Amino acid sequence: QVAADLGIGLVEFYPMPRYTGTQEVNPFLLRDLSKCILCAKCIRADHELVVEGAIDYLERGFDARPATLHDWPLDRSTCTFCGTCMELCPTGALFERDKPRVSTSPQRIVTTCPFCACGCAYELEVADNCVVGVRPGIPDSPNGVTLCVKGRFGYEYVNHPHRLQKPLLRKDGELVATSWENALTAAATGLKDLIAQHGPDSVAILCTPHCSNEEAFLLSLLSSRILQTTNLCCNTGMDMGALIDGMRETLGWTGSRHTFHDIEGAGSLLLIGTNPPASAPLLSYTIKRAVRNNRAHLIAIDPIENKLCRQASVWLRPKPATDEMVLSSLLGAIIQELSGKNSIPGELKEIRRLYQQVSPEDFEKTTGIPFGHIKEAARLFCAAEKKVIAFGNGIIQQPRGKNLVRTICTMSCLIEQLTNREVILFPVLKQSNAVGCMHLGLLETKTPETIFQEILAGHIKGLWIIGDDPAVNLPGAQQVLAALDKLALLVVADSFLSRSAQKAHIVLPVASFAENAGSITNMENRVQFMRPAINPVGESLPGWVIITQLANMLGAGFNFGSPKEILENIKTQVPAYAAMVVSENSATYSSHLLSTPATTAKQTLCVPQIGEPISLPDPEYPFLLVLGSMLFQLDAGHKTARCRRLAKITTDEYAELNMDDAARMNISDHENIRLVSPAGEKLIKSRCTKKIPQGTVFLPLPFTRRSTLLPFSVSGSGFKNFKVRIEKVSS
Ligand code: SF4
Ligand code: SF4
Repeated sequence: QVAADLGIGLVEFYPMPRYTGTQEVNPFLLRDLSKCILCAKCIRADHELVVEGAIDYLERGFDARPATLHDWPLDRSTCTFCGTCMELCPTGALFERDKPRVSTSPQRIVTTCPFCACGCAYELEVADNCVVGVRPGIPDSPNGVTLCVKGRFGYEYVNHPHRLQKPLLRKDGELVATSWENALTAAATGLKDLIAQHGPDSVAILCTPHCSNEEAFLLSLLSSRILQTTNLCCNTGMDMGALIDGMRETLGWTGSRHTFHDIEGAGSLLLIGTNPPASAPLLSYTIKRAVRNNRAHLIAIDPIENKLCRQASVWLRPKPATDEMVLSSLLGAIIQELSGKNSIPGELKEIRRLYQQVSPEDFEKTTGIPFGHIKEAARLFCAAEKKVIAFGNGIIQQPRGKNLVRTICTMSCLIEQLTNREVILFPVLKQSNAVGCMHLGLLETKTPETIFQEILAGHIKGLWIIGDDPAVNLPGAQQVLAALDKLALLVVADSFLSRSAQKAHIVLPVASFAENAGSITNMENRVQFMRPAINPVGESLPGWVIITQLANMLGAGFNFGSPKEILENIKTQVPAYAAMVVSENSATYSSHLLSTPATTAKQTLCVPQIGEPISLPDPEYPFLLVLGSMLFQLDAGHKTARCRRLAKITTDEYAELNMDDAARMNISDHENIRLVSPAGEKLIKSRCTKKIPQGTVFLPLPFTRRSTLLPFSVSGSGFKNFKVRIEKVSS
C-alpha cells in the first residue's frame, strides 16, 4: 500500500486513474476505487448471483470503473447491501463499513444464519469472545457466496451491551439479579403450585419459530408429558393452520419437497402473495437467476409491487381480497390451456365450467385485471416443462386462507395430472426454523391470540415465554400488556430485557445463536447446524440447557448431555428425521435433506369456492391496511432492531400509500400522517408511491411495534384485512 501510494513500481508514463472519491452515506459498504483493478468480479456478483443490476461499468478506457447509475452513492441505487460484491472483491476496493477492528486474525466457525427460513450457511468470525464478521462461501451450502443484508450485518446484536447477563427475580416490585438455582427453583415452584391449584391448563408455554429443533422437541415433551398442558404455542405471526390444513387436506402432506436448486432450473414460475426480496432474499436470488439464465416466465400475483414484479412476464395486480376469483379463473384458464378440446375428468370439468361461467366483464370489474391477462398468464405458465408455484403470507394470512391454499394445491395436482410432470410446489415460510417447528408439531397448537384470550379470561395463570416478545410482536399491544399484568406467574427467557420481560416475575438470560448448538430446518427441508462460536455472554445459558434444567426440576428426568443426544431422540420419534446422519466433525459444514413425503399420498382436490367479498366499503375507515415484511428487519425487529447498522437505515417509520390517494388528500412525501383504526391509531411518516394500489396502505411489520393500531383479535378477519383511515397531521 505504501509503495502504491508513493507511485513505486508503476511503469513510467502509465496514466494514473482519476477516480473521484465516492461519498457513501449508507451504513454498510464503502468503496475505495483507487484500489480497483477492473476485474469486474463485483459487477458479475451483482448481475449473475444476486441479479440486482445496481452496478455496472461507467465510462470507457482509463476512466472505466464499477459504478451505480449516474455514479450515485449506493443508497440511491437498487443496491440491497447484500455484500456479495464486497465478498468477491480481491483488492479491498469494496469493504465493510465500521467492521470491528481486531488485533489478531479472527477464528472462523461454521454456523447457520438465525434469521429467515432460507437458512444460509456462513462462517462467523470471532475474536476476544466477540463476533466481528461473517463470511459466506461454504461449499455445498444453499447460498454459496451470497447472503442478504440481515445475514451479512445482523450479527451485531450478539455483542449488544444490553444483553442480559444474569437471571433476574422480582422482589418488592423490582427485578434484581439472582442465581440460576434461585430463578429456576422459583419458576418450577410457581408452575407446580399453579398446576396443583388450578390444573395443567392453567399454565402455558409461548415460544418462537426461531428456536432450534432440539429446543422445540424438548418444549413439546415438557408441555405434553411433564406439565400435561394443552397450552403450547409457537408464535409465527400468522395462522399456520391455513397452510398446514390446506395442504394436508388436499395433498396428504405439508411443506416443500424441493430445493432452491430445483427452482433455479424452472422454465416458468407462478408467485402468489409472497415478497421474497424482503422475506426470503436467497429465494429471490434463485428466482431471478431462473428468469435471467433460463429465460423463465415469471407470473407474479400481488396487489403490491415488489422487486420481482418488474422482472415478471405478467404481473397480475388484483384488487385486495379478490384472490379467490383470480386463482379459480387462473386454474380454469390453465385447464383450458392444457386440455384443449380433449375430454377431461370430472373435477376438471366442474372447474372449467365455473371458469366459463365468469364473464370477462364481471371478472375485470371485480378483480381489476383484464381477462386477457389471465389467459396470457396461463399460456406462458403452461408453455414450460418445469413449473414452480410459490406462495406465501399474502395467501396464508387471508381470512379464507385455507380455501386459497387448497385451490393452489389443486392447481398443482391438476397440472401434474394433465402433463404427467411434477410441479414444484413451494410454500414460502418466514422464520428460520418455522419448518422444523412444523415437523415437530408446534405449529398445530393453539394460536397466541387464543392463549392471550384465555389469560384475560382468567383460565391461564402462568406463562413461560421463550425467545418471543408478544408485547411487541402481537397485535393489540394494550390487551397483551394487560394480559401479562394479570398473570400470577410470568417467566421470560430472552437475550434482552424485552418489553414482555419487563413485566416478568422471573427473567432467564438465553444465549444467542452464536453461543448455542443445535439444528434448524430450512424451507427446502434441509437440516443444518448452529455451532457455538463464543462463550455465552455473562451467565446466560443455551435454550436447550434452560429447558432441560427447568423440566428436571419439574420431575422430567431428562438426561440429555448435548443437542446431538436430543437430535438422536428426535430421529426415533419423527420419521422424516430418522435417516439423518449427524456428522462427527462439528467443525465442517454438513446438512441433511429430509426424506420427502411420499408422492403417493392420497390427493383430495377441491373445486374452488368464491365467497362473498371480504373487504366491504367502510366510509369511516376507507383504506385497507396491509402488513408486510421488510428487507432490513426481521419480524417486528426483536433482534435486528438491536443491530446498529440495520437500525440506522430504518430509523424513520413510514407507511406507504398510493400517490393518487396522497394527492387527493393533499399529503406529500415524508409528511406526518395519522393512521386510525377502530382499535387505535399510529402517528407515522407518509411515503407516496405507485407500488401501492389505490385504497391501500402498506405498513412494514417492524413499524407495528407497540402500536395500538391493530386489533387484538384477528380471528375471522385474517392478518390482511385491517381497515384504517388516513388523517393529515397539520404540524
Ligand atoms: S451489495 Fe449486493 S446489491 Fe449492492 S451492488 Fe453489491 S452485489 Fe449488488
Ligand atoms: S436470506 Fe435469510 S438466511 Fe440468508 S442471510 Fe438473509 S436472513 Fe439469513
